[in-house]
Amino acid sequence: MSDSHNQVRRRFTINGIVQGVGFRPFIYNLAREIGLTGTVANTSVGVLIEIQGESKQIQAFSSRTEAEAPPLSTITSIKEEPIPATEENDFIIISSEGASEVATLISPDVALCEDCRNELFDPSNRRYGYPFINCTNCGPRYTIIENIPYDRPYTSMKHFPLCVDCQEEYDNPADRRFHAQPNACPVCGPHVWLSDDKGHALDSKDSVKLAIDLLSGGKILAIKGLGGFHLAVDAKNDAAVARLRQAKGRDEKPFALMVRDLDKAIRYCELDEKEVQTLDSIQAPILLAGQKKGTDLAVNIAPGSDRLGIMLPYTPLHHMLMSHSLDVLVMTSANFSEEPICIDNDEAVERLSGMVDNFLFHDRDIYLRSDDSVVIKMDDTIRPIRRSRGYAPRPVFLKDEGPSILAVGAELKNTVALSKDEKVFLSQHIGDLENLEAFEFFKMTIEHIQRIFEIEPELIVHDLHPEYLSTKWAKEQTLSLLGVQHHHAHLASAMAENDLNEPVIGIIMDGTGFGTDGTIWGGEFLVGDYAGFSRAACIEPMVLPGGEAAIKAPWRTSLSYLYHTYGETLPDIPMLEGKDISPILQMIDKRINSPFTSSCGRLFDAVAALSGGRREIRYEAQAAIEFMQAANNELGKDRTAFDITQPENHYIISVGHIMQELVSRIDSGYSLASLSQWFHHSLITTFVKMTNRLSQNSGINSVVLSGGVFQNMLLFEGLVNALTKHNFVVYTHKQVPTNDGGIALGQVAVGRNFLEN
Ligand code: ZN
Ligand code: ZN
Ligand code: FE
Repeated sequence: MSDSHNQVRRRFTINGIVQGVGFRPFIYNLAREIGLTGTVANTSVGVLIEIQGESKQIQAFSSRTEAEAPPLSTITSIKEEPIPATEENDFIIISSEGASEVATLISPDVALCEDCRNELFDPSNRRYGYPFINCTNCGPRYTIIENIPYDRPYTSMKHFPLCVDCQEEYDNPADRRFHAQPNACPVCGPHVWLSDDKGHALDSKDSVKLAIDLLSGGKILAIKGLGGFHLAVDAKNDAAVARLRQAKGRDEKPFALMVRDLDKAIRYCELDEKEVQTLDSIQAPILLAGQKKGTDLAVNIAPGSDRLGIMLPYTPLHHMLMSHSLDVLVMTSANFSEEPICIDNDEAVERLSGMVDNFLFHDRDIYLRSDDSVVIKMDDTIRPIRRSRGYAPRPVFLKDEGPSILAVGAELKNTVALSKDEKVFLSQHIGDLENLEAFEFFKMTIEHIQRIFEIEPELIVHDLHPEYLSTKWAKEQTLSLLGVQHHHAHLASAMAENDLNEPVIGIIMDGTGFGTDGTIWGGEFLVGDYAGFSRAACIEPMVLPGGEAAIKAPWRTSLSYLYHTYGETLPDIPMLEGKDISPILQMIDKRINSPFTSSCGRLFDAVAALSGGRREIRYEAQAAIEFMQAANNELGKDRTAFDITQPENHYIISVGHIMQELVSRIDSGYSLASLSQWFHHSLITTFVKMTNRLSQNSGINSVVLSGGVFQNMLLFEGLVNALTKHNFVVYTHKQVPTNDGGIALGQVAVGRNFLEN
């Protein structure tokens, strides 16, 4: 290179997810292409680059580093400083000693990249048709890591010593597979095989081809994937889908689909550009999208639903399975209801034998299970409903550094979080802790995240509910504890991911959460911040006859609302036809296993059932979901504001008048669609009215929305719209779920504030 007089030298320190994601080969190739000399190294303070050349070249290097960074990397900061030029004439990668790589942020598992896909289907490539092809830009990560540093001996790839060819790629800084820990080929890597329903291997030269034939013939296959087993059937085969429903004990809940490519996705769903990009992203989540009518799908994929959950193939094996006759498969997690997804071969045979006809196994162990993520577009933004494979353990970045906290989440849709510096590592979806397997997985995940990110928490934050297994577990530990009210955690979660620090009005519309007064809350207006809150308003508490039983039978909740409004002289309502109401009324009168709740989810259940919707449900929130869908995504003009009273120190949104109005509309023969539109519109009007009043009282203009009910698109979009029109600044969830899957982030934020003050 030219003599060092015209040369400038710069040192870049880059932080974020920049290690173990192909960053060094990227820098190496970029520097060489531009004609710069220098070095790149992984260090404990991040990726350290020294670069030397003309200032124009260095500028190009700097901007291209940001613009063209590898797909798995996330740059959170770049520090640039001038240093004296030296004599050198090459660019080199300085190899790092494993011990210094503590700042490594482990990447999530991501979908097959285009380069690897091309090689997979290229007959001249040595990995042609090899179902475990990957590179530094794609493949398994989080699910195969047992320990740090992120190096092959500490992953489940340790059983597969690299062959000479693979080793050469692994060692070559210019290669796409430089330091790709899961690198493998047919000679040295894992393989797939097919078995019968008992797990006995079938003799077949081409297992993938045979699997395709079996699926095409209507068989149910358990297919081992990236984060666990899927149960798969041909999604065009009514009988196969029906058998799968029976096998899984899931008679109505919609099944997720895997479609061959975007062309096929567009055939089944209405998709805009953002949705297409999301499907095609490296995270490859399940997207809930509007379902097209009159397609060739089996009738029982998503009965009664106007939405479909679809995803694209994300492992090489998926791509191979869908490269021939099959272009759409049901791909549902291999588990019963909310048990954790199955990951181990022997465990799969034990749990799934009898449910499936065949297994498609492989011998790359899954160390940590990870379910498919689920996202939806609402108010023009893609939002997570379940943040898992492809996203976890990518941290949520907070504005400031703080002490390390362990947050154990809630009970249903549990996730846990561990924080370090400014990062909050939210776990993958763990599931409903009511069942033992999920609880085991919960403990394992906590231990695992602590280990791989080297986090020693100073405090454990838990929900106030004394019966949650997460709470009970927290209380058995020796660390200091902090209990945080469920809806306060929801509020703090929405604040934290939006970098808010000033008090807000929180509209928290939820299913259930333990209140500070020992009753069940769930339709709350909270005013507060991380330090604390006041319960400014709530939906009028109602008796829930039979507790859990009422959640599964919304008509019981409706009856409670009617009884509250009309007393003994109940109106003549179609919903009550054929129902034996006297035992339920007795339960309410005597308050047998019948707690009070201000839940917004239960209000939806009650109104849905009364209006002619589901009286009993087969999966969570079915009545409310179908009631929303009945509105055809419109609010109409008609609405009735709820009465707002203030009997004590907080406001009550009372439901009596709304019930009377609803009953009179039902009497007048209003359709389910118009009742749904009217109710949604009424609720939005009431919430805005309530927010206005709280804003006048407090002078606060910032509003956060959180809680599971805000998965209701009609309510969510209508409310955001109406509040914005009233000049409120509205903050919502974009990084973590609005449901209880996002609670742990809020618990961390409250815990940090507690330790710091
Ligand atoms: Zn790749
Ligand atoms: Zn090899
Ligand atoms: Fe909640």
